[in-house]
Amino acid sequence: MQSVKNKLVLITGATAGIGKACATLFAQNGANLILLARRENLLIELQLKLQSEYNVVVIPLVCDIRNAHEVKKSFNSLSEENKKIDILINNAGMARGIDKLQDGLIENWDEMIDTNLKGLLYITREVLPYMIEFKKETAHIINLGSTAAHDVYPGGNVYCATKFAVKAITKSLRMELLEHYIKVSTVDPGMVETDFSYVRFPDDSTKAKNVYSGLTPLVAEDIAETILFCATRPKHVNINELVITPTAQASSNFINKK
Ligand code: NAP
Repeated sequence: MQSVKNKLVLITGATAGIGKACATLFAQNGANLILLARRENLLIELQLKLQSEYNVVVIPLVCDIRNAHEVKKSFNSLSEENKKIDILINNAGMARGIDKLQDGLIENWDEMIDTNLKGLLYITREVLPYMIEFKKETAHIINLGSTAAHDVYPGGNVYCATKFAVKAITKSLRMELLEHYIKVSTVDPGMVETDFSYVRFPDDSTKAKNVYSGLTPLVAEDIAETILFCATRPKHVNINELVITPTAQASSNFINKK
């Protein structure tokens, strides 16, 4: 088993849910962090908390991952030393609506594609040259996929497409980085109770809450532990893909609700 102590970990989407749980768990385990998200106040609050509780370095990067120019500018604001990321956790992501395609809103499609797919590409594009030059044989990229990358459902058209795309990028990246011994993994959760459904249904908090009613969903910490597990395997072990659901969920739409 490897330790993440003193490793430099960049986590996207660190202000809430899975990203925030990862930030906390990796800090507990001694990792230094670069935390990326849009909500500056939440980033600063988390930075101060983790620095004081765990005595690690935490650098906030306030940035909208959908904007290629902003991503480049934010990454370039880091010192040369802090650009040498050991572990990149591509977590920022979201869903909007659950409309059939004929009813879909183009702005929702754009938001999902720009965040989940293009945003992941933009930040990875910045980080990778430094990983290849300075972190050969040790670096690791961990993408947040979803069971929606394996299993579609009505109304999941564009969200599922973005997560299928994350799976495709993960697989081809693993091939491209093989010569550098850089690990690439995807962690693919089912239902995790976070802000995710509230973002998906911003005008209907009852609908958002009902997604998780009648079952015990995963919590963000379950996924953070899984991601830490992937990041701490011995040097010769790469977890390619890890699918994790609540016990009450067998597929996207096959759920045992009481
Ligand atoms: P969440 O609680 O809503 O958190 C999403 C995070 O992403 C927030 O920190 C948000 O920060 C950040 N983010 C969203 N848009 C962004 C943007 N344009 N630029 C920068 N940061 C952005 O959701 P979550 O459940 O933790 O989801 C995390 C990942 O897990 C996503 O990729 C999601 O698709 C995946 N996932 C979730 C579930 C689930 O059931 N929850 C299941 C499978 C997969 P700001 O708003 O501050 O920018």
